[in-house]
Amino acid sequence: MLTIKNLQAKIGEKHILNGINLDVKPGEVHAIMGPNGSGKSTLASVLAGREEYEVTGGEVSFEGKDLLEMAPEDRAREGVFMAFQYPVEIPGVSTINFMKTAVNQIRGYRGQPTLDAVSFLGLMKEKMKLVEIDQALLNRALNEGFSGGEKKRNEIFQMAMLEPKLAILDETDSGLDIDALKIVSNGVNKLRNKSNAVIVVTHYQRLLDYIVPDFVHVLYKGKIVKSGTKELALELEAKGYDWIKEEVSVL
Ligand code: ADP
Ligand code: MG
Ligand code: MG
Repeated sequence: MLTIKNLQAKIGEKHILNGINLDVKPGEVHAIMGPNGSGKSTLASVLAGREEYEVTGGEVSFEGKDLLEMAPEDRAREGVFMAFQYPVEIPGVSTINFMKTAVNQIRGYRGQPTLDAVSFLGLMKEKMKLVEIDQALLNRALNEGFSGGEKKRNEIFQMAMLEPKLAILDETDSGLDIDALKIVSNGVNKLRNKSNAVIVVTHYQRLLDYIVPDFVHVLYKGKIVKSGTKELALELEAKGYDWIKEEVSVL
């Protein structure tokens, strides 16, 4: 589904990604871990197509198409969904209206008929249950004044509404208390199936107790320096990142 080959990127003069290789197949959940500043959000942002980052080398293909050639909105239409570490606030646009536009654009692109108000509301009610989000929140301007937890829950609600093929969740766990963490994880787990894939970026092993990954990768200084299974996340939780840094410095 997603193949990343030797991806390199910089911001300004600063090289942040220094040759990322990653292969994600349908049905898989990959966790990206690593110390602060290692490039996790940069990787997510480059995949989403944020313009501040300049790709200086490598390739990314999504379902056989060159992802890096696509505009951000085309990536979204192709089925790539990104939940950002810091979701943007859009004053004056209600969450419901924002979602209605987004859902109908994507449906149009997929050749599905546009949803009228009643069908849209039906879909919304169904997905609201999944993430236990309150309709009062959805009537408000997108993310405006939302608490950290409400923003994260709203991101997962958006994901549920858009049914992406590939979801990239950047530190969706940060700012969540344990109950909200369970609800968000539950939402993600209910959306997991054989034909979609998830990349979860996280600092902490905690999230991976709920969203159990097939693979865990450690990003350090803009490279994946170690890959393993869920056990690797447990090892990192117990031992921290220093041993990985030492291994890297020996190489
Ligand atoms: P992580 O998500 O792993 O904590 P980031 O991808 O956010 O790491 O950041 C990687 C490195 O790139 C850090 O050293 C950070 O300071 C730098 N960086 C990220 N965004 C910018 C930016 N907009 N301008 C300058 N440096 C940046
Ligand atoms: Mg960080
Ligand atoms: Mg980050």
